[in-house]
Amino acid sequence: MSLTINRERLLSEIDALALFSDAEAPAVTRIVFSTTDLKARSWMKARCEEAGLTVHQDAVGNTFARWDSSDAVEPVVGTGSHIDAIPNAGKFDGVVGVLGGLEAIRALRESGFRPKHSIELLIFTSEEPTRFGIGCLGSRLLSGTLSANAARKLTDESGCTLDEVRRKTGFGGELEQVKLSGAYYKAFVELHIEQGPLLERQRIPLGIVTKIAAPASLRVLIEGSGGHAGGVLMPDRRDALCAAAELILAIESAARTSGAIDTVATVGICDVFPGAVNSIPSRVRLSVDIRDTDLQRRDKVMRTIATTCESISARRQVSIHNELVNADAPADCAPAIIEALSQSCRKHQLNFLPMVSRAYHDSLFIAHIAPVAMLFIPCRNGYSHRPDEFAAPDDIVRGTLVLAETLAALST
Ligand SMILES: [Zn+2]
Repeated sequence: MSLTINRERLLSEIDALALFSDAEAPAVTRIVFSTTDLKARSWMKARCEEAGLTVHQDAVGNTFARWDSSDAVEPVVGTGSHIDAIPNAGKFDGVVGVLGGLEAIRALRESGFRPKHSIELLIFTSEEPTRFGIGCLGSRLLSGTLSANAARKLTDESGCTLDEVRRKTGFGGELEQVKLSGAYYKAFVELHIEQGPLLERQRIPLGIVTKIAAPASLRVLIEGSGGHAGGVLMPDRRDALCAAAELILAIESAARTSGAIDTVATVGICDVFPGAVNSIPSRVRLSVDIRDTDLQRRDKVMRTIATTCESISARRQVSIHNELVNADAPADCAPAIIEALSQSCRKHQLNFLPMVSRAYHDSLFIAHIAPVAMLFIPCRNGYSHRPDEFAAPDDIVRGTLVLAETLAALST
């Protein structure tokens, strides 16, 4: 089988999709179920149908485009990613996996290849958390990681529920029907830009993901006692911000001393109330993000944070309330898919780097119901989620070729 990736077609489609945007080029803003997103979706659907694929959408708008080959059987070999984009993002995040996936399937069809297993492109709904506050909405529902009931309660900034929004934009049916069975996929492989600098730095064209790190996040509310910055003497203070400062450093130290470079912890939000120069902070809200490739190690950091909260609270006479927002499990990629990806790289004498995905992706959730792996291509300076996000045409084409060969290998 000799495969040809149609470079011009693929690159021009990436440019064309970037025009569906609520921000001025080169920035891309495409929020799930916005008018712009709906237009982009129907454009995508038309490209899939033009390629001879059969398209269907589920109740939350996950879009499946299947190569219906009469002699192909289930389970399905899947590929795909997302096309929603956070405000002021670039045009490659997610899109490379969707349009690269489509091009890979087209290349296989045009080569005369006959898959034994059906091959399907999947465009996930709302990988980005922008509108409903939770990332990977589509894949969480597909994998059953998020229940239909919990999903129904999600609201956007204007107070509209997910249920109202999806029905208004044409996605009917019940959310209960979105979940796929564990027998649906034979394998799922996602092509994505790295969103980090390692491949570019080491001049390696491809990264094969062996593990996907998973985040847990906490909201912490610290309440002390406010007062006049001059009037309240130091022995009488119950300063919420000083307690927060101690906690932030303890969180950093818990990650640093976990024994593994893969443990990371970040306090990304620190809201101080009342926030006046001459007023003792009485209330602080923190948001904490903890990630690791190892669930036990990550959970140990979380337990350390919990006990540190207790000791700071007792010592400083402040109340600390700790709320778990989410705690997803990390995923190991499937050895058989990693091997199929590696074989294709070796065949073309392409150097590749086994690596950890430190950002999370829809594949993390699909890993609950299917063997998964991911293929990374470099992106300039590691930039992503910004308008100057850039992946080189040669890298995109290479990634698409390796993806196509991997889909072929997995479907025979
Ligand atoms: Zn992405």
